Amino acid sequence: MASEFDIIRKYFTREAPTADLGVGDDCALLRPDPGMLLAVSTDMLTAGIHFFPDAEPGKLGHKALAVNLSDLAAMGAGPRWATLAIALPEADEKWIAAFAQGFFRLAGRWRTELVGGDTTRGPLAMSVTVMGEVPAGLALRRDAALAGDDIWLSGATGEAALALAHLKGRVKLEGAALEACLVRLHTPEPRVDLGVRLRGLARSAIDVSDGLLADLGHILEASRVGAELAWDKLPRAKALADCPDKALADDCLLAGGDDYELLFTASKSKRAQIEAMGRDLEIPLALIGVAVSGDPVVRLRDTRGKVVSSPRKGFDHFA
Ligand code: ADP
Ligand code: MG
Repeated sequence: MASEFDIIRKYFTREAPTADLGVGDDCALLRPDPGMLLAVSTDMLTAGIHFFPDAEPGKLGHKALAVNLSDLAAMGAGPRWATLAIALPEADEKWIAAFAQGFFRLAGRWRTELVGGDTTRGPLAMSVTVMGEVPAGLALRRDAALAGDDIWLSGATGEAALALAHLKGRVKLEGAALEACLVRLHTPEPRVDLGVRLRGLARSAIDVSDGLLADLGHILEASRVGAELAWDKLPRAKALADCPDKALADDCLLAGGDDYELLFTASKSKRAQIEAMGRDLEIPLALIGVAVSGDPVVRLRDTRGKVVSSPRKGFDHFA
């Protein structure tokens, strides 16, 4: 049976070339570049709440890091380091090896170095803390949107939530639609390069993890503005467009969660630059609405300008 220290040494100790000191001591020692602010974020995944207890470990390793990298992206920060706290019910080395492989594959792609953590026995859960850097003054905060800003969304929302609805038996997806939705749910792609490129272009940003309307609501409240969204401009993935249960598809689109897309606002004067950047990164960017002065509420309008009533707002662990 592997001991705690065997597990750490074998599976979670890797070179961390840019850290002064990585895994193995009481603390890691890190040196942010001059002029950069350290952006720090933690997200926890718990069995039975965020994933099924029998979820594939490689995909969990990916997702545990991906959801955190998404937070850095939403701040305009480039990833540097991460720590991983993990509770394991048993020392199942096959499981741990697969988890570590999923984690480090994504970490390698975005040059994120694992520099520490904690390993304990307990009900399966993992918490990753990421540390990234953003030049002082260029962070994309939630409180910086201005009335008149364009509202943009990367990719499309709703597929992860539709996959979850399928797994819970609320809808039956098949073939390519099922495949596309499951990929979005289990192995989301954090928009790291987009977040970094939005520095100086976007005014405010958030990553969509709790649903499009709910997360837009966070920007609106922090910035004290309202929003007008164009119903027909909201990007719809094929699986949602083809879904026979229209009410479910709309709910996933607006309030599903687990999307890890970036929602951002920018001055109208940046439109051409943003479009060019999206083409350059090959990331679809949709102009979905405009920030307006007034209460922090979202008005969703159809093509004739009529307000479309919106369903439940988003995901809240305690609601
Ligand atoms: P301490 O008791 O001083 O907190 P630990 O015995 O918990 O240290 O951990 C030993 C070293 O291994 C520390 O550097 C810690 O950051 C690292 N570590 C523990 N668990 C993990 C993990 N899951 N991933 C990465 N590093 C880890
Ligand atoms: Mg410890």
